[in-house]
Amino acid sequence: MSFAQRLLTWFDEHGRHDLPWHQPRTAYHVWVSEIMLQQTQVQTVIPYYQRFMQRFPDIQTLASATQDEVLAHWSGLGYYARGRNLHQAAQLIVARHQGQFPQDYDAILALPGIGRSTAAAILAQAFAQPYAILDGNVKRVLSRYYAIEGWPGEKKIEQQLWQQAEALLAAVPSSRLADYTQAQMDLGATLCTRSKPRCGQCPIQQDCQAWQMSAVHRFPTPKPKKTLATKQACCWILRNSLGQVWLQPRPASGIWGGLYSLPETPLAQAGGLEFDMLEKFESSVQSLIEWPSLKHSFSHYHLMIYPLEVTLNDQARIAPVQVNEAPPPYAEALVTSGRWFDVAEALTLGLPAPIRQIIEQLQVGKAEQLI
Ligand code: SF4
Repeated sequence: MSFAQRLLTWFDEHGRHDLPWHQPRTAYHVWVSEIMLQQTQVQTVIPYYQRFMQRFPDIQTLASATQDEVLAHWSGLGYYARGRNLHQAAQLIVARHQGQFPQDYDAILALPGIGRSTAAAILAQAFAQPYAILDGNVKRVLSRYYAIEGWPGEKKIEQQLWQQAEALLAAVPSSRLADYTQAQMDLGATLCTRSKPRCGQCPIQQDCQAWQMSAVHRFPTPKPKKTLATKQACCWILRNSLGQVWLQPRPASGIWGGLYSLPETPLAQAGGLEFDMLEKFESSVQSLIEWPSLKHSFSHYHLMIYPLEVTLNDQARIAPVQVNEAPPPYAEALVTSGRWFDVAEALTLGLPAPIRQIIEQLQVGKAEQLI
């Protein structure tokens, strides 16, 4: 039996047939799930996917929502550019394709946030078109199956893997293209896992070159290590006498783009800048609380966050300000446009994961009070 036949036979018995994006398996459902599944595991994605579909059941609803609403439903999944791109792509589908998801490879690839493998997964699963996928799971399986040396993120190695993925596709019956695509993902996620692959149960074990060489652990070649820099920032939990917290939207592009966040300043040596900042509040400071630091890792650096909670007592200066209006006068150097939120309301917004964690802590306990 061919690779495809053995994989499909295994899939029929052991594959995942009850994923929420298979019911129904439309391009919209496959697309949203594929974007969520980039960098995120199935079990984590399912509740987010279900909430997202409840609120945005079709492309039109997604296109007409605000970015804030979309990001609020993305909050916690991380890699927020995915949510922003999804929203923008829905608007483009409405503008360019009358709200119908395109069935043409180049038209799909032209949408923001959709790469070659995602476009192929949509075409194969929703439209039964013969396109090979090459996501992280498939890269791992094929690196091992063909014992391909070299980090799969490297252009030359990736090219080699694409060639193999496309060659294998030739033996797939057209009626099984959607299942074959899912079967590859399932094999990588359930048997040919990163650590401790279960080769004894694998349907393609007999031809797997890494297994034959007793060298499964050597494939795929890991990414060459580089040391990530660590940045440090002070996050200001400004609270007014009503207990509300000040949040402001971040710029649309860049880290946490478009999400609400706390005002932030780079952490200065020996706290100098922080105390300079505090002077801006002058006599308005009622209490100052230092919260435990948090570490958050991005793909290209680590961020150490030092939260400081400053409660202000000046009733005259706590009038709520609407987004895009001027900041309150005492904090011009620190805050941009934003407004006061009740803590419970703040938690309904699209927030970066560590900022959400800080705000959740506000409901629970106290840290070290400085003044
Ligand atoms: S035999 Fe092992 S290493 Fe080879 S494809 Fe199967 S699970 Fe992966």
